[in-house]
Amino acid sequence: MIYPWGDSRRYHAYSSYLKSLFGTRVQKLSLHAGFTCPNRDGRIGYGGCTYCDNSAFNPSYCDPSKSIVQQLEEGMAFHRWRYRKAVSYMAYFQAYTNTYAPLEQLRELYAEALSVPDVLGLVIGTRPDCVDDALLSFLAQLAETRYVMLEYGVESCNDRTLATVNRGHDFATSVRVLEKTRQYGLPAGIHLMFGLPDETPEEWLQWADLISSLPVSAVKFHQLQIIRNTPMAELYSQEPQRFHTFGFHEYIDFIVDFLERLNPEVMVERFAGEVPPRFLQVPAWELIRNERVVQVVESRLAERDTFQGRLFSLS
Ligand code: SF4
Repeated sequence: MIYPWGDSRRYHAYSSYLKSLFGTRVQKLSLHAGFTCPNRDGRIGYGGCTYCDNSAFNPSYCDPSKSIVQQLEEGMAFHRWRYRKAVSYMAYFQAYTNTYAPLEQLRELYAEALSVPDVLGLVIGTRPDCVDDALLSFLAQLAETRYVMLEYGVESCNDRTLATVNRGHDFATSVRVLEKTRQYGLPAGIHLMFGLPDETPEEWLQWADLISSLPVSAVKFHQLQIIRNTPMAELYSQEPQRFHTFGFHEYIDFIVDFLERLNPEVMVERFAGEVPPRFLQVPAWELIRNERVVQVVESRLAERDTFQGRLFSLS
């Protein structure tokens, strides 16, 4: 069967979209461009989000003491060795808040990334409260000739949770930035986290309906991974009853439930986080590579004879 997104996969895979757009497999290369975060330096808050430890998800070649070009070249070498198949790349400004600098400085950093052969475009990770019209206008211009995507840390649709984890913004801020990004014609990806305190799987399933109604191009899901020595780890050790931590197969079934409700137009980029176990206080599961998680989700969709959007309806 061919699904509305044009292939036989049971969910709308972002990787398949990129492959059809560029005619080749596309690998994102993470960068640490030396940014900090306004939720750490006091402009918005101090201490950061209570679960955050950027070192837990930065590959080793991501080192701000190296230039953008050097990080990209080392990333390409690593991925050629690991995957053998990747031939084109996206520069992924991942660590911290990658729009948190004057526009002139951002222009230079993004241009440096785009100057590297085989880099097709940019994916820029940031907070929903850290982009403005001047930046979006510049990026929209850039997107006339290169691929440009914004990636926003939405994390939760619940304002009470966002306050509990010290995000420093509310959900309405996320909605506003998504609408604004769409006005500039740019694709927007979002991160959602399942497992933050006092939330439940029933609530997360309702988010599928909410996200489906927003101008979201792609979504990345993460199960909460509680990283050692963070305030979240402290809260977990004091009040574990406030957390729903998924077992692996329970999580896969939850993801399938979520996909069934999700708008088929929303692409899915990843299903789970991959923090190395040495960083984790609560390793709900051993490290399971993203490729493997994709296989298990696809098998489960087939076993349940279902697909993304099966229960979605425009209301
Ligand atoms: S906004 Fe991002 S980088 Fe900043 S503290 Fe939160 S998770 Fe960490």
